[in-house]
Amino acid sequence: MIYFQSLTKNDLVELLKPLSQVKTRSDQSEEERELKVKKRAQYRAQQIFHWVYQRFVTDWDQMSDLSKDLRSWLKDNVEVYRLSERLNRQALDGTHKFLWDLSDSKTIESVIIPAALQEKEDDAFDGDAPAYAGRPVGEGVTSSKWSRLTACISSQVGCAMACKFCLTGIQGLDRHLQAYEIVTQVHELRRIAPITNIVFMGMGEPLHNFENVVKACEILLDQDGLNFSKRKVTISTSGLVPAIEELGKRVDVSLAISLNGTTDEQRSAIMPVNKKWNIEALLDACRKYPLGSHRRITFEYVMLKGLNDSLEDAARLVQLTRGIPSKLNLIPFNEHPGSEFKRPSDDTVRQFQKYLMDRKLTATVRISRGQDILAACGQLRSIFGTARGTERHRDWKVVATGSLNTVS
Ligand code: SF4
Repeated sequence: MIYFQSLTKNDLVELLKPLSQVKTRSDQSEEERELKVKKRAQYRAQQIFHWVYQRFVTDWDQMSDLSKDLRSWLKDNVEVYRLSERLNRQALDGTHKFLWDLSDSKTIESVIIPAALQEKEDDAFDGDAPAYAGRPVGEGVTSSKWSRLTACISSQVGCAMACKFCLTGIQGLDRHLQAYEIVTQVHELRRIAPITNIVFMGMGEPLHNFENVVKACEILLDQDGLNFSKRKVTISTSGLVPAIEELGKRVDVSLAISLNGTTDEQRSAIMPVNKKWNIEALLDACRKYPLGSHRRITFEYVMLKGLNDSLEDAARLVQLTRGIPSKLNLIPFNEHPGSEFKRPSDDTVRQFQKYLMDRKLTATVRISRGQDILAACGQLRSIFGTARGTERHRDWKVVATGSLNTVS
C-alpha cells in the first residue's frame, strides 16, 4: 500500500498513466498519444488532490467524479494516511498542542499557534481573518479570530543536534519522519483549523532529514493540494551549512536560522553543530541563499540569562547580520522544570531589543506560548509520549512530571 501523502502530484501522474485510456486516431503519432495520456493522468491527479487535501475525503468510493475502475485501483493500492491523536491540550492563550501516535507507536508533536489580531488592524482583517475557537477549554481563549494560525510541525522523532537549551535535543534522535508523516501533520491540523502558515520548528532538525522535508514542502505548496504560499512555509535550521546551500536550489521556501550566540565560543557551548560549521560559514551560506524579492531570513535568538543577553551581544548581532536581508526574532528562554538555563528579565529583553531597533534592525520579541500546557518543543512527548531519552532526559522527566501535576 502506498500512503497518499507520500506522493507529489507528478508521482501520482506517473502511477495513473498506465490506467489512463485514451482514444487515438490512426493518423496520430505515438508522441501525441503519450501527451494525451499524460494530460488525462494530470487531470485525474488534480481531481484526487482536491478530494483529499481540500475536501478532506479519505474514502475513495465517495469521490463521485472518478471512474469506478480508478476508484477500485485506488482502493487496492493507495491509502490516505491518518495520524492518531494521543492527546491534545489547549493553553489559555489559544496555543493548541497535539501529541500524535505514528504507525510504529512512536510519538511526535505539532502545535497550532494563533497570532492575535492587533486592535488597530481589526478592521483590515475583517472577513479575512481565520476563525478558530479551538476546543472549549476555559475562559482564557476569548478570541475566535486571529491574524494568522501557524502550524509548528516536526520533521524527526527526537533530534540528533543536541542543542543544550532544547528538550528534544536531550531526547536524542529516534528516526527521521517520512514525507507523508510530515505532510499529514498539516493535513490533520487543517481539519481542525484554517492554518495559514507552517514552520518547521517542532521536533527535529529539518535539514538533517533533507529529502523527506523537501518532498513534503513540494506537496504542501501544491496549488491543488494544501496550497500554501512559499512565503508562508518556513524551514528553521540549527545551521547545517551544506544543506542550506542545497535547499536554495531545490525548493523555494522561507529560511530561519537558529542563531542563539554571537561568538563561536558561546554558540559552540550550547549548539554542538557550531563546532562543525561556525558562525562565519553559517552567515556566508545565508548571504548566498536565494531570497525572492521582499523576503528576509529570520534569525531566531533564544535569550539565555547571563549567557548571550548582554548589550555586547546585541552589538555583535548588528555586525554579524549586516548586509543580510533579515529580521531578528528574540525568544526569551521558556524555562522548564530541571533546565539549567534561566530566562532574562523583561527589562534585559527590552533593552536588548531597543539596542537593535535603534540601529534599524527589525527585532521582535516572541512571547512564550502555551506555558500552561508544556508547549515548549519536546515537553509533551517527554512526559506522555515515547521519548527514549538520555540520562539527562530521564532526570528531567522525573522533575517535570512532578511539576505537571501542579499545572494540569
Ligand atoms: S533546537 Fe531544534 S535542532 Fe536543536 S536540538 Fe532542539 S529540535 Fe534539534
